[in-house]
Amino acid sequence: MKPRGKPPSLIGGGAGASKIIFAKAKRTCKWCKSEILKSSKCVEVAIPRSFGCKTYCTNCFIHILDQSRKDIANLEHSLSTMQ
Ligand SMILES: [Zn+2]
Repeated sequence: MKPRGKPPSLIGGGAGASKIIFAKAKRTCKWCKSEILKSSKCVEVAIPRSFGCKTYCTNCFIHILDQSRKDIANLEHSLSTMQ
């Protein structure tokens, strides 16, 4: 069967989606616990199966992106090497 529509994404649309925003209020980075000032750039990562999200500073998000890349590379590796 041929799938319809756009392929689902591990990081997009709903579960786990991230977006870069300007903080509407003062927030705390979920990872490094540093303060995110109102109107500064930060990242909201949706928590799957909830309406909540985690907020990270942009410094931490660089590491989060990096880790996500590694996780995806591991998946690709397993897909091609697992028998
Ligand atoms: Zn941080």
